[in-house]
Amino acid sequence: MITLDEKFILNWLTEDDQSKLQELWQLADKTRQDNVGNSVHLRGLIEVSNYCVRKCNYCGLRADRKDLTRYRMTTEEILDCAKKAVEFGYGTVVLQAGEDYGITQDWLSEIVRQIKKQTPLAVTLSMGERPVDDFVAWREAGADRYLLRFETSDDELYDKIHPPLPKDQMSRIDLLKKIKELGYEAGSGIMIGIPGQSFSSIAKDILLFRKLDLDMIGVGPYIAHQDTPLSHQEKLETQQVPNSELMVYKVVALTRLACPQANIPSTTALATLNKDQGREKGLNRGANVVMPNLTPIQYRKFYEIYPAKVCINETSDDCRFCIQGRIFSIGREAGKGKGSRNK
Ligand code: SAH
Repeated sequence: MITLDEKFILNWLTEDDQSKLQELWQLADKTRQDNVGNSVHLRGLIEVSNYCVRKCNYCGLRADRKDLTRYRMTTEEILDCAKKAVEFGYGTVVLQAGEDYGITQDWLSEIVRQIKKQTPLAVTLSMGERPVDDFVAWREAGADRYLLRFETSDDELYDKIHPPLPKDQMSRIDLLKKIKELGYEAGSGIMIGIPGQSFSSIAKDILLFRKLDLDMIGVGPYIAHQDTPLSHQEKLETQQVPNSELMVYKVVALTRLACPQANIPSTTALATLNKDQGREKGLNRGANVVMPNLTPIQYRKFYEIYPAKVCINETSDDCRFCIQGRIFSIGREAGKGKGSRNK
């Protein structure tokens, strides 16, 4: 029996011997198999809007990027994407956006109601740090899940990368607790390799995933966007965590050990680092979810949270066949139904 404490996690995070790491990959894969089985749940991602009021220092959608063409999908376009999700056999749609107050509480409530009425899909929202009464209204409208990464549990680092809006607001971690209280399945996660992020801070993030008892946990590499302030940060810590593919696999695997029942995606950001094998390797080292993109092709390149994102020139159909082929190639199967966490 392993004791999954900070020391255990730190040992693996700093292990670079490929043959020793095989042990971690095998342990994570077995834990995944024993707890969530062979199914890979598909969540169709709809990038609803790239407007944003925030100025997160890492994100390419930040408010003061003036050169980015902004878009907001129409109700009809969003419902069409949801119908495609059903046609493609996905169990869930994830509606994600910048923090866009052009997306009003009522407008999104109506969309959620329509999707729930017209389809059997689970609806996940990822709209950023909205006021609590928005979370209440969307839950009442039928939304099942909410995704809000806390990005890092290190307060000092968080304050450097994530300036608050000029009003009192709950922290992302407190918001996650509220989201759970409201009856949503809660998803969160972090970026790996943020300038100034230490190994011990990642170990604490993983322990916090467990403490928060999250249903979904997404971890991906930080990818610098040249039009954001964080990309110009020069001096890295000596203990700096690399934003490498290998580091992402270690965090995926350790997250699986810490949270055996959680839904863990093999992320698009990871696939951006290794276009050929990133998705598959993530799935073989602890992950059990993939989020194929459903966003209409004319909008994809504008949802530029980081540069060179994979799939920006592909249609929803391309993403569907590509992802299904990858799942099949590693002997796994696409999940049926909504793919909620076993509790
Ligand atoms: N507005 C929503 C959705 C943001 S995009 C929100 O703030 O929750 C979703 C995720 O993309 C973020 O939570 C962050 O973890 C990730 N992201 C943003 N910029 C990134 C970058 N430069 N590299 C890697 N991931 C990034």
